[in-house]
Amino acid sequence: MNFNGIDFDTYFKHYPDANGYFGKYGGCYISPELKEAMEEITASYFTICKSSKFIAELRKIRKEFQGRPTPISYLERLSNHIGTGVQLYVKREDLNHSGAHKINHCMGEALLAKYMGKKKVIAETGAGQHGVALATAAAYFGLECDIYMGSVDIKKQAPNVARMKILGANVVEVTHGLATLKEAVDAAFDAYSKEYKTAIYCIGSVVGPHPFPMMVRDFQSVIGVEAREQFTGMTGELPDAIVACVGGGSNAMGFFSGFLNDPVEIYGIEPHGRGAALGDHAASLKYGEEGIMHGFNSIMLKDENGEPAPVYSVASGLDYPSSGPEHAFLHDLGRVKYDVINDEETIDAFFALSRLEGIIPAIESAHAVAYGIKLAQTMGKGSVLINLSGRGDKDMDYIIEKYGIR
Ligand SMILES: *Cc1c(COP(=O)(O)O)cnc(C)c1O
Repeated sequence: MNFNGIDFDTYFKHYPDANGYFGKYGGCYISPELKEAMEEITASYFTICKSSKFIAELRKIRKEFQGRPTPISYLERLSNHIGTGVQLYVKREDLNHSGAHKINHCMGEALLAKYMGKKKVIAETGAGQHGVALATAAAYFGLECDIYMGSVDIKKQAPNVARMKILGANVVEVTHGLATLKEAVDAAFDAYSKEYKTAIYCIGSVVGPHPFPMMVRDFQSVIGVEAREQFTGMTGELPDAIVACVGGGSNAMGFFSGFLNDPVEIYGIEPHGRGAALGDHAASLKYGEEGIMHGFNSIMLKDENGEPAPVYSVASGLDYPSSGPEHAFLHDLGRVKYDVINDEETIDAFFALSRLEGIIPAIESAHAVAYGIKLAQTMGKGSVLINLSGRGDKDMDYIIEKYGIR
């Protein structure tokens, strides 16, 4: 399929290019030592991902440990409740072992670490979801695991800190500055630049320097490949539209990659939080501008000094002041439409899916559900497939405390 001059039949051969660019976005903007480490990872990945042993091992892990394929569920009661004749479906990434899609790339990254002979995986975490998924993978493979986390987040995310410790990870407290995600990223990169011979940095989304946006997309593409096959098997046709939430953009990119070459409308949903003022949302593709942060060029939200701006939404997993470079590329191209959902709409969708379908979604995923409901209200007929990136157990206490039962 040709779209605005891009041939999507051969898209994955050309994007990213050899230097990690999707058009002008992407690349590898880091110190020379770390650049060397990234080149080692890129070369190993290109060799290993073609090896039949690696592929067979990843397949086995997905089936026997993660519980893949995850099903697609038809949302009969919610569709009837909306009543326009539009049929809603969800791809159930919430049913992955450990409760979300992040395990898809963490198992891939840790398996790569093992094949590269590394002893340790290193990462930062904000809300703790990436830390838990990586700690799970490290335990599975018998790798050491250092997770850098700001002391403010350690206090806020006590259950996830406990999960990481139980899984055997070393949670490294970062106390300087605001002691949140940004400082944790810096501390983790610092540690990595001293340990890169024996350790590998595992990025938690389709962000960071090349090869991570490509590698994480490839590991997550299992969502899109499965979903396309399952949906056409269930209904005999393609969905009219697909929807996913976008933080860094990994669940969305994996899901979308299965449908880019199809006549399907694709929607990426960012959090609009409390409103349009800088600091009240994390809608980087809607309000941001081109810039470099965390080792890559993309569209980002900047403060008055050109630094990454503070962000907010009800879903801490979506609070990132940029999005992966491939999203910036697909945004400019117009192949994917990016739109927003605010906190209130998200909470309504959280309760709607819980009450009408018996599925408690992650608050991140509830952004995509809310947009799917909006689409169903306006479309009149057809089908919408939503990626349900994770389950909502982690969010229940917070929602009841802040919003009560609706
Ligand atoms: C982390 C997380 C996200 C956001 O990350 P992406 O890289 O944008 O997918 C979305 N949903 C859940 C459940 C998460 O844990």
